[in-house]
Amino acid sequence: MIDKIFSFSELGFQETESSKYLSQILEKNGFQIEKGVAGIPTAWFAKWSNGKGPVIALGSDVDCIPKASQYPGVAYHKPMVDGAPGHGEGHNSGIPLNITAALAVKQLMEREDIKGTLVLWPGIAEELLGSKAWYTRDGLFDDIDVCIFTHVSSNLSVSWGQARGTGLISVEYTFDGEAAHSAGSPWRGRSALDAAELMNVGWNYKREHLHPLKRSHSIFTDAGDQPNVVPSKASIWYYFRDITYEGIIEMYNDANNIAKGAALMTDTAMTSKIVGAAWPRHFNKIIAEQMYENIQQIGLPQWSNEDQMLAKAVQKEVNSKKTDGLNTKLSPIGIPLKRPVSGGSDDIGDVSWKVPTVTLRYPSNIPGLQGHHWSNAIAMATPVAHKGATSGAKVEAMTILDLLLKPILVEQAWNYFNDVQSKEAKYKPMISADDKPPIYLNKDIMNQYREKLEQFYYDENKYDSYLEQLGISYPTLKKNN
Ligand SMILES: [Zn+2]
Repeated sequence: MIDKIFSFSELGFQETESSKYLSQILEKNGFQIEKGVAGIPTAWFAKWSNGKGPVIALGSDVDCIPKASQYPGVAYHKPMVDGAPGHGEGHNSGIPLNITAALAVKQLMEREDIKGTLVLWPGIAEELLGSKAWYTRDGLFDDIDVCIFTHVSSNLSVSWGQARGTGLISVEYTFDGEAAHSAGSPWRGRSALDAAELMNVGWNYKREHLHPLKRSHSIFTDAGDQPNVVPSKASIWYYFRDITYEGIIEMYNDANNIAKGAALMTDTAMTSKIVGAAWPRHFNKIIAEQMYENIQQIGLPQWSNEDQMLAKAVQKEVNSKKTDGLNTKLSPIGIPLKRPVSGGSDDIGDVSWKVPTVTLRYPSNIPGLQGHHWSNAIAMATPVAHKGATSGAKVEAMTILDLLLKPILVEQAWNYFNDVQSKEAKYKPMISADDKPPIYLNKDIMNQYREKLEQFYYDENKYDSYLEQLGISYPTLKKNN
C-alpha cells in the first residue's frame, strides 16, 4: 500500500488514484464508503460497525509535495519525473498504517464479539490545509467518540496538550485593475500587479513587528501575462501562522488592511478568499498516555545495516546536523511545553477541538532532513517506511483495543476534553458556512505530469516491492556505481 501510494504521487485535491485504491481495499473488507464528502471529490469516509460501542476514527493524510519527485532508496537527488510532484512529506504511509491496524482489529472484534465502530478517513490536501476544517464544519465528526490521527516522523511517539507548531489561515488576495499597452499608453492602465507587490511590501514591513512565534509566507499565483500588457489581474496567496487562534485572526485583519491600502494606492479593486484553515492542535492526555504504554511495548523497528547506510548517506547529502542515521531510542512522551515553539501546522487541529484526538507519529522517515523536499521522499518506499508504519500499526491496533475494551478511557478522554482542554480556548471555525474547499487547486500541475507518472505506477502483482520494479539496488549511495 505504501509503495502504491508513493508511485501515484498525487497533489492535494487531485488524489483520485490514491483515494480509489485505498477506499477499494476497505470496501472489499466490508467497510461502507461514503464518497465525495464535504464537497471534495477525492474525500471519503469508510465505516464498519460491530454493534453499539465506542466509535473510533482513524485518519491520515495522502497528498504529496510539488517538485519532490525522487527515486526511493537512492541517497542523492534523482527525480523519477523531472519537476513532478513526489512524496517529499511521507503522506503515502499513514493511511496504509491505519488500514493495517483497522483490518487486524476488525478480525479480533469479529472473533471475540467486541462491540464498536471503526471509521477511516483521508486528510485530503493537507499541504493546503484544505479538508479537515470542512469535515468538522460539515458534521463528519459529530458521531465520533475518539480520533486517532497518524503522521510520519522519525520516531514512534505521541504527545498531549498544545502541540509544537502553529495554526494558520490561508488567504488569497486578488486585485483588479485596467489593462493598457505598457509602452503605448501606460497612463491609461491601473496595474493589479503593482497592488499585489505593494501588499507584499506592506506585509514585509509589518513582519518586523510580529512576535517571533508568528510566521507567514506567500507566493504570487497570478502576476500578469506578459510585460507589454499592464496586468489587469494579479493574486497573492499567504499562509498566516501563529500559536493561538486570536493571533492568527489578528494577522488576518492586519493583512486585510494592508490589502485595502494597496488597492487604494493603485486605484484597483481587491477581493479575498479563505482557501485553507488549521486550528492550533491540542491533543488528549488520556489517550496519549494509554498510547505511550503501547509504544513502549512495541518499541522501534530493527533497522538493517542497509537502512542505516541509506539514512546516514542522505543526512550527509543534505548537510544535516544529525549524522547518526535512524533513531534507535524511543523519545519520551510529549508533554505541554513551558514555552511554546513555532513551526508547521496541520488541520487535524480543527478535529482536535471537536473530539478527543491524538497524533501517533511513527518512524517511517530519516531524522534531520529539512522537510517538504526530495530528500524526505527517499526512504518513503523502502524497508524504512514499511517497518516504521508496521510498528505504528501495532501501537494503533493496541490502542483501539484499549479504547474498545475499557470504555472508561473514552469517558475520561471526554472529561479531559471538556474540563481541561476547553478551558484553554473555545473553538470558533475560521471558515464560514459559505467558504468552499478550493478543489481546483493543483489540477493543472497534475494534468501536466500524470501521464509521465503513470509509467511508474507500482504493479504489486508483478513485483514484491517498488524497489524491485524500479531495479534499484538497496541502498544506492553514490552516483554511477
Ligand atoms: Zn504532513
